[in-house]
Amino acid sequence: MEITPSNNSCAYGQPGIFRGHVLFGNPRLAGYAWPLCEIRGNRPGARLCVSAGVHVNEVSGIEAAVRLQRLFDPETIQGSVSIIPLINQPALYKYSEYICPIDGKNINFTFPGGSDGTFSEALCDAIMNEWCAGADCYIDMHGGDLRENVSKFAIFQRTHNTELDALGRRMAMCFDAEIVVGLPVVHMEQPGRPPTGFARYGRLALMSEAGANGLLDEKAIAFHVEGVLNVARTLGILDTPLSEFRNTRTLCNDYLWIHCPLDGEFVPEVEPGDRVNKSQRLGTICNLFGETLADIIAPETGWLLWRMTHPSILKGAPVLAVAFEEEPARL
Ligand SMILES: [Zn+2]
Repeated sequence: MEITPSNNSCAYGQPGIFRGHVLFGNPRLAGYAWPLCEIRGNRPGARLCVSAGVHVNEVSGIEAAVRLQRLFDPETIQGSVSIIPLINQPALYKYSEYICPIDGKNINFTFPGGSDGTFSEALCDAIMNEWCAGADCYIDMHGGDLRENVSKFAIFQRTHNTELDALGRRMAMCFDAEIVVGLPVVHMEQPGRPPTGFARYGRLALMSEAGANGLLDEKAIAFHVEGVLNVARTLGILDTPLSEFRNTRTLCNDYLWIHCPLDGEFVPEVEPGDRVNKSQRLGTICNLFGETLADIIAPETGWLLWRMTHPSILKGAPVLAVAFEEEPARL
């Protein structure tokens, strides 16, 4: 990993505010430089890594990563906060939905990746093992690509390690979320999101989601910013009190994507964050004469995690997702 400072930067690794670029060592990633801001306190402490822009249209997360750079003072914090505001550099100015245009992969489902894999796989490996080496927590912020609206939610990975699970849950609860999803253990068998890839190695990562339609939204930006600040408070980097929680932070232990049964126009009847009941109609698929072709039905009782906002949806494409509440503990 090669780090080059900008003109207005302290030396990398020294107390102060570093601004510059990181070039990862893997030759598969040659030709790209990632903007990096790292705030290091005078006193030692935890290390928090924060990123956004894995999906370049999810701009509320990217804007939160920019604002967070001004919210840590090296004179008062303990430890360090390292921020890469835009991970998917090959997609910048291409406005690619979901994917990295070099290999067509969704970086968000490629962790832990591998150093000898494709560009996205090499990048996930570099994020985990170079930039986030030694980090106590990594947070990747998302929310609302060009055709979708997401509820305010946070994700951690459940494992067979009760200590790591408790930590992941505690940190995910730092976000003032409508829904907190603890991904089921089975996710760790496949490449996945940062929480999944990190958990495979006994490490902690979270994802936060808020936003819609590729738009800047102050409430979504504040959700990400406050959540990250609360994680920093919980890690002891900041010594200010946790911000107030207004949402339910309903703990869910799984979710299901519902796919469109045929080509058509989606007419939704629910919004992200809504409670939905088993067998409830969540919307319909119509043709361009306004005639109903099919109903979209809730498979179980739960919460609407996100939905597509562009009506035109191809057969087999995901139209929405429902998260399922954790079973109450049996006494
Ligand atoms: Zn995303």
